[in-house]
Amino acid sequence: MRRIARQPLPSVTARALVKRQRDADDGRAAGTLDIKQTWKMARRSKPLKTVDATLRAMAGSRERCMYCCDSHGTDIEHFWPKANYPERLFQWSNLMLCCAECGRFKGNRFPLNNEMPALVDPTADDPWEFLDFDPTTGVVVARFDPTANAESPKGVETVRLLQLDRREALNDGYLKTWRRLVATVEAVLNQEQPDAKMLMRALVEADDHELLGWCLFGTGQRVAPFLNLHTQWPEVWAECVDALS
Ligand SMILES: [Zn+2]
Repeated sequence: MRRIARQPLPSVTARALVKRQRDADDGRAAGTLDIKQTWKMARRSKPLKTVDATLRAMAGSRERCMYCCDSHGTDIEHFWPKANYPERLFQWSNLMLCCAECGRFKGNRFPLNNEMPALVDPTADDPWEFLDFDPTTGVVVARFDPTANAESPKGVETVRLLQLDRREALNDGYLKTWRRLVATVEAVLNQEQPDAKMLMRALVEADDHELLGWCLFGTGQRVAPFLNLHTQWPEVWAECVDALS
């Protein structure tokens, strides 16, 4: 997973969403809102096509699901589920690109903690503040917070809800990506003077599952060979961190 910067919508699209939300709110007040049908009809409209294209651009060239970063993002997903939160049906900040599997696991489930989402929102959170990666198994787990002496509650809920620790193909994919990243760093460790720009290009190319955030900002920076890169080549490390920030 990685932090995704939410791009602004073209103003005409943003206005169209506001109008659709107003109409939906009116329908809800009148008791006539059919959420599924309203969404189905809107989904074919030009503004929602623009929303779809903008989400794909945000997700990056691979157009991966924003939750698992493994499968192709196939549809627009409501972070706050539309069935329970129709007041967010057309809210831009509530729309994500999601794969069929994550969509199925998430469904209408949406745990709250003090009325705030207990689920990582990759367009608002840095996922690796809450999640961790186990390089021996390829499993994404909740991050342990030594200050609280407990796993991150948001991380725990995210892993549980999206079943990130129970998807074999997903874990295999993450493991392959991790091995590619390891090989890329190991290849430069013994060079006389590694070139940070070339290294970053190779790392981004190898990073099929958006693991670089974990390697450079998450607990991965304390794991070999990223730890070695940090200690042996601090300037190269700093440049790589800067490039990903
Ligand atoms: Zn997914």
